[in-house]
Formats: sequence, structure tokens, C-alpha cells
Amino acid sequence: MIEVIRGDITQLRLDALVNAANESLLGGGGVDGAIHRAAGPELKAYNRRLGGCPTGEVRISPGFKLPARWIIHTVGPVWHGGDRGEPALLESCYRNSFALALEYQVRTIAFPGISTGVYAFPKDQAATIAVSVMRDYEDRFERIIACCFSEEDERIYLNLLRS
Ligand code: ADP
Repeated sequence: MIEVIRGDITQLRLDALVNAANESLLGGGGVDGAIHRAAGPELKAYNRRLGGCPTGEVRISPGFKLPARWIIHTVGPVWHGGDRGEPALLESCYRNSFALALEYQVRTIAFPGISTGVYAFPKDQAATIAVSVMRDYEDRFERIIACCFSEEDERIYLNLLRS
């Protein structure tokens, strides 16, 4: 079941939430900053030992002070116009997040709009990729949540899920 929720992903009580991280995994702006603030300083200390994460790949940490049990950190591609493999890399972020979630027996999971903030991936195209991978994994999870921060994002996801 794919759900659309509008709000702050850090407030969700789930088995896992996905973080749109950067390659350092040590925190940044946007959703990454919000997750690090809400999880507390232990997250940064833990991630230091992970030694970073290449674009398109995933790493996992505990949720620390978050209500979510796990944080799956993935690094989305920076949008450079679309001819540098950005769509395939974004798809890898979603697929690799689901694969790692399954290894950790995650049944409920939420995603932000990976790469659609500072990394400037076009929102419609990003949501189309997200929803198509979510549909592939729908049967293996109890809840898959597209966590939208803006009304525009919510509208994009609701339209895609209706079609
Ligand atoms: P990126 O660097 O991958 O583009 P950003 O954090 O800049 O990541 O943005 C990714 C998406 O997360 C954007 O759609 C942004 O509006 C959204 N976002 C920012 N803060 C939160 C939050 N607390 N909860 C859910 N989504 C958020």
C-alpha cells in the first residue's frame, strides 16, 4: 500500500525512514539536516564510522532519538540536465533502499523526494521514478509512504497514484 503524507518525515513512527543524504553522511541542509537534528549528535558520530556513501548507494544507521527504528541514508544525484545518468542513479537510490530495508525486516518505510530539493532534480520526473519503484515493492511492505513537504509535491504524487 502506497500512501502520501504531507509533513515532516522526522515525526513518523515507522520501521525505517529514508534520508536524502550527501556523500559524507555527516549531515547537511534540507531533510538531511532535519533528520540529524531530530536524531541527535549520536547519528553523526555513528555515520563517521561508515566512511561516506557514493551516489546511488545506501547505508543504514539506527534512528537514535527519532521515533523511526532505522534510517536508510541514500545519496541522490545532483541534476546536471539529465544526460549524466541522473534518472538511473535516482532509481538506484529507491531500489537499493528497498533492498536494504528487506534485509532488516522493515515493514513500514517512508521516503522524502530524494534529489528534488537542493539537488534540483525535476519534481515530476523524480516522482515518476519513485512511484514506479514503489509499485515494484508494494507487495513486500505493509506501508510505503511518500512523505511530501509541500502541497505541490503532494499533488504530484496523488496524481501519479491515481493513474
Ligand atoms: P536533496 O539534496 O537530495 O535535493 P533536500 O533535502 O534539499 O535533498 O530536498 C529533498 C526533499 O525533501 C525536498 O522535496 C524537500 O522539500 C524535502 N524536505 C525537506 N525537509 C523535509 C522534512 N523535514 N521532511 C520531509 N521532507 C523534507
